[in-house]
Amino acid sequence: MSLPKGGRQRSADMVGRSRKRRGATHHGGQSELKVSCSGSQKKRKPSPCGFLDKMRAKLSGGHFRMINEKLYTCTGKEALNYFKEDPTLFDMYHTGYQSQMSQWPEQPVSKIIKWLKDHSTSLVVADFGCGDARLAKSVKNKVFSFDLVSNDPSVIACDMSNTCLESSVVDVAVFSLSLMGINYPSYLTEAHRILKPAGWLLIAEVKSRLDPKTGGADPDRFIKAVCELGFKSEVKDYSNKMFVLLYFKKKEKSSSMKREIQWPELKACLYKRR
Ligand code: SAH
Repeated sequence: MSLPKGGRQRSADMVGRSRKRRGATHHGGQSELKVSCSGSQKKRKPSPCGFLDKMRAKLSGGHFRMINEKLYTCTGKEALNYFKEDPTLFDMYHTGYQSQMSQWPEQPVSKIIKWLKDHSTSLVVADFGCGDARLAKSVKNKVFSFDLVSNDPSVIACDMSNTCLESSVVDVAVFSLSLMGINYPSYLTEAHRILKPAGWLLIAEVKSRLDPKTGGADPDRFIKAVCELGFKSEVKDYSNKMFVLLYFKKKEKSSSMKREIQWPELKACLYKRR
C-alpha cells in the first residue's frame, strides 16, 4: 500500500503554515515587546526563552492534533507505513498525547493496571497499542506490548491486526484508548485469536466515541458486535467522565455459525486546541 498521501500532504501544509505562523508570531513577539517597553525594561521584557518555548509548545500541539487525526482516519497498515517513513512523528504524537493525558483526572491505563494487580500475576497479557508501555512497566505479569513503533526493547513494533503470537496464548488482551484505525474490528479479531478460551478482553475508550449524545456510536451496538465475535460482556462502566470501560470474556467455545458482524463506526477523537 502506498504511503497515505493525505497525511503527507497535510504534514507538508502544516509545516508551511507553521513557518508562516512562526513569522506572524515573530511580529506578535515584537508588538508584545513594544507594549512592554512602555514600562520598566526589567519587569516587562518577555524572556525570549519563554516566548520560544510557548511557540514550540503551540507547534508541537498542532503536530500532535494532525498525527492524531491521521491515526483515527486511516488503516493500521497505513499508520504503520506513516511512522516507518518518519519515526520522529511517533515521538511527537506521544509528547502531545501525554500532555493531553496529564489534564485527565484519571487515566484509563491506571484502571487497567489496578485490575491486573487485583488478579493473578500469572496471567499473560497482550497490550494492544501500548504507547510508552506503562502497563508492562507497572505489573509483574508477562506482558507482550505492541505498538506501531518500538522505542523500547520490550515493545514489539507491528500493526496490531497482525501480531506475531500463536493462537490461544494470552489470558488478557488490553486496548487502552487504542481502537484508532478505521479497521478497528480487525484488532479485536486478532485479540480474539490470541486469547485463550475464557480469556479477558479489557477495552477503555474515549467516552464521546461511545456516546450517542455527543455523536458517538451506540455502546450497545458496539458491545453486541464484540459479543458476536465470540465474547460475553462482563463489565460496562460508564462512571468516568472521560472514558468508558468495557470488559469481556472470550467464550469457551466459538460458534460455528459465522454471520457478518455489523460493527458501528467509531468516530475520530479529536483533541481541542489548548
Ligand atoms: N495504551 C496507551 C497508549 C494509548 S495511545 C495508554 O493508554 O496510554 C494509542 C496507541 O495505539 C498509540 O501509541 C498508537 O500508536 C497505537 N496504535 C494505533 N493503531 C495501532 C495499530 N494498528 N497497531 C499498533 N498500535 C497502534
